[in-house]
Amino acid sequence: TPVLPRPAARRTFVIANQKGGVGKTTTAVNLATALALGGLRVLVVDLDPQGNASTALGIDHGPGTAGTYEVLIQGETVADHVVESPEAPGLQVLPATIDLAGAEIELVSVVARERRLIRALDRYTAEHPVDYVLLDCPPSLGLLTLNALVAATEILIPIQCEYYALEGVSQLVRTIDLVKGELNDRLQLSTVLLTMFDGRTRLSAQVADEVRAHFPAETLPVAIPRSVRISEAPSYGQSVLTYHPDSVGAVSYLKAAEEIARRGAEEAA
Ligand code: ADP
Ligand code: MG
Repeated sequence: TPVLPRPAARRTFVIANQKGGVGKTTTAVNLATALALGGLRVLVVDLDPQGNASTALGIDHGPGTAGTYEVLIQGETVADHVVESPEAPGLQVLPATIDLAGAEIELVSVVARERRLIRALDRYTAEHPVDYVLLDCPPSLGLLTLNALVAATEILIPIQCEYYALEGVSQLVRTIDLVKGELNDRLQLSTVLLTMFDGRTRLSAQVADEVRAHFPAETLPVAIPRSVRISEAPSYGQSVLTYHPDSVGAVSYLKAAEEIARRGAEEAA
């Protein structure tokens, strides 16, 4: 894999879409691996109680594993609980366990409840420089996602190439504007990624056109194809980049990572 340009400052992406099954976790995992294989320092924070990102990056997250829950609710440090993924050198993961399911409610009564994650990340990255932080969110707009929106500098919305693709996106955009105005003025919807694109169907092409018309600058040129390799990789605790490096899925995530890194370096210049 090619060496990717380092951004001038940490870029923190929230991978958000309140719809489930659109490819958020798949995107977080594969982009993170591609960026790390490109020589960048990457941290994935798993904010979904299902822990699918942890699984796909080969990280144990069974009961008793400490991770995002301890950091958000108990104020423990990220440094104490990050684990290096076997997927790539320089790829760190803060795992999620099922405990995180309770965090959505427990956070309600915690002080500065929407700023828990940004504080923990700022504290961590002050001592452990990171180029990219990717926040994998659950499929809801609750306090876990809010913590991610407050901690992030950029939003990446994965959009699945299917009927009603844009449904829900306008609600997400309104939430983003609200968070931007009230809690995080740095937040930018910078990136849209088309996922599960099927080149054989007119529907996929129509959805892709519609999304590109809506988000002309944000939508990455590469669309992630629907691919069996991509969906199989997590059951081996792997990203598609190490599972089948030559597959179209791996190549497309690599292209997406290259474009994201290129845009980040360009903006800094
Ligand atoms: P989300 O995190 O938004 O809920 P996931 O990333 O878990 O979505 O993806 C939902 C399902 O679709 C998973 O089973 C995943 O393996 C599968 N999937 C995601 N992207 C692709 C793709 N490009 N091709 C085939 N299957 C995919
Ligand atoms: Mg997910």
